[in-house]
Amino acid sequence: MDRENVSKPLVMVVEDEAALVTMLRYNLEKEGYRVCEAMDGEEALTVLAERSPDLVVLDWMLPIMSGIEVCRQIRRKPRTRDLPVIMLTARGEEGDKIRGLNTGADDYLTKPFSLPELMARVRALLRRVRPSQSKGVLQYEAIVMDLAAHRVTREGRNIHLGPTEFRLLQFLLQHPGCVFSREELLNAVWGPDIYVEPRTVDVHIRRLRKALNGDEEADIIRTVRAAGYALDAEGTTV
Ligand code: CA
Repeated sequence: MDRENVSKPLVMVVEDEAALVTMLRYNLEKEGYRVCEAMDGEEALTVLAERSPDLVVLDWMLPIMSGIEVCRQIRRKPRTRDLPVIMLTARGEEGDKIRGLNTGADDYLTKPFSLPELMARVRALLRRVRPSQSKGVLQYEAIVMDLAAHRVTREGRNIHLGPTEFRLLQFLLQHPGCVFSREELLNAVWGPDIYVEPRTVDVHIRRLRKALNGDEEADIIRTVRAAGYALDAEGTTV
């Protein structure tokens, strides 16, 4: 394989509607991505075992195994734990959205979605996973983020974070003690051109907290009622 091909991000499309797969493949390849596909949940896991995609576009309603279950499996395996997942679904209810995010999807689009919107989200998510040139180490209290190695530890213990939680923590580590509103965090972490509901921030903060805080450890993220969140050794005072 020549080097240029390998350096192109590989996007995996898991979808049982053949026409949609064809359309997504065409447009993703036009944007410069490599594409692999799976038509059902079981095939998705098989392909994941053989290939190492950089991002997965995952339909919720799939034969054999649902997208939700595939997402759970992705998060369960160490090799794919940090793999970015965009969930597609025909359901539009808020409860389902939050449920989708809680099972570990990084982003969520309701069908029918606009293609430019999906492409913007793919780009944004890949940007977050491959932080451009920012190398170095960020530290606050016992939390250390090694940007080059893409690794986070607390008290030397490895912390596994999804790409969104990683970017969220990176941003908070760059401004310790500062309180940010949900909107500010959305702009900084998701980017201003992406529409995400403010409540999504709460979901990712909750996941970040869960990952960061060990059993006996203080909560390092402070919730400021009606204002937002801050990285703060004083912890939550609400
Ligand atoms: Ca489907």
